[in-house]
Amino acid sequence: MDATQEQVTLGEAMRRGFMLRCPNCGKGSLFGRFLKVADHCPACGEAFSHHRADDFPPYLVIMIVGHVIVPLLFAVEMAWAPPMWLEFVIWIPATLISCLLLLQPMKGAVVGMQWQLGMHGFAEARQRRLA
Ligand SMILES: [Zn+2]
Repeated sequence: MDATQEQVTLGEAMRRGFMLRCPNCGKGSLFGRFLKVADHCPACGEAFSHHRADDFPPYLVIMIVGHVIVPLLFAVEMAWAPPMWLEFVIWIPATLISCLLLLQPMKGAVVGMQWQLGMHGFAEARQRRLA
């Protein structure tokens, strides 16, 4: 263990996870596939199999996207009142694309948070880092 591993703050671990990188080293990929977290970091070997992100990332994505799309939708409706078909053509794809783009980074941030806080099976790794 080197000294930099001990100094990973919660914000940094979440930022690295959001950037789809290992929260420990910031270099290896956190994901094996789109939403499948890798078993371990290919760069530093840190185990990720302990994560329990579950439904928290989609909950956060729905909350964030909803708080962006709904006010925009209302603003467009109040300003221009476009026809309903145009509203569907704009807002349904915008919502779907926003959710798909944000889901993986948000899951990475949640895994980074769990890793830094030593939640679930990450407790042992945290003890090792702090020892
Ligand atoms: Zn790593």
